[in-house]
Amino acid sequence: MTGRLLFTVDLDRDVNILLDGKNKAGSIDRGHGTEPRFESCEKGMDILLDILDSFGMKATFFVEGHTSEIVDCSRLKQHCIGFHGYDHEDLTMAGPEELRDIMDTGFRAVRGNVKRPTCFRAPFMRTSDAVFDELRRLGIKHDSSLYAEPGVGPYDISGITEHPVAKGKDFRGKTITAYLWPMHEGTREPTDYLSLARASGNADLVLSTHAWHMVESREKGIMTWAEMEHNRKSTEHLIKLLLDEGYVPDVIGD
Ligand SMILES: [Zn+2]
Repeated sequence: MTGRLLFTVDLDRDVNILLDGKNKAGSIDRGHGTEPRFESCEKGMDILLDILDSFGMKATFFVEGHTSEIVDCSRLKQHCIGFHGYDHEDLTMAGPEELRDIMDTGFRAVRGNVKRPTCFRAPFMRTSDAVFDELRRLGIKHDSSLYAEPGVGPYDISGITEHPVAKGKDFRGKTITAYLWPMHEGTREPTDYLSLARASGNADLVLSTHAWHMVESREKGIMTWAEMEHNRKSTEHLIKLLLDEGYVPDVIGD
């Protein structure tokens, strides 16, 4: 039996980086400083939504609070919505009051600008027991902030269902996760992720990406039109491979 394809998108500031001394992320400096940018996120979101529409698929979007105030999220309403901090904070660096404030602000921004979030992914995949306590306080019952061996999950963490992102080894012994980052950067092929899915024993597969990564490479900057096309086709090809494998698309939250 094949599991579910849980396609997830982190909708956050372009090429986010932590800035020294601040628990608020910026965007990588492309010659104009590190103020957060959102243009690649918005363009990439539209590309991903078109791909999902072409397959008639619903996905889970983990929306950063601040991003929801800047990017037009009206097309997201038909999808499952989670939240992803407010300013893409490293939540493990926040004290109890700051953490509560970030979680409240992020949750409210996404609820107001998109719809009520029903799941969560920690920025930078950095989470803690205190973050899980905050999720319980907010009534969030699903999380996807942890990595696990292929084939593990979903599982319960005191009332919250964890949907981990698979992290395994490829046939060369090199680490591969179900984040599509290296495929967008040109160092992995769609078939690498099919192999990871098969290594998961065809259990649920939480496939993950960032909206901005459809149009901007961390290493090489804004993509050319041809690079964007290649990236779009690779993403479509991978989804098709997984659907052909028998995966059934589904979402993480309620
Ligand atoms: Zn993020």
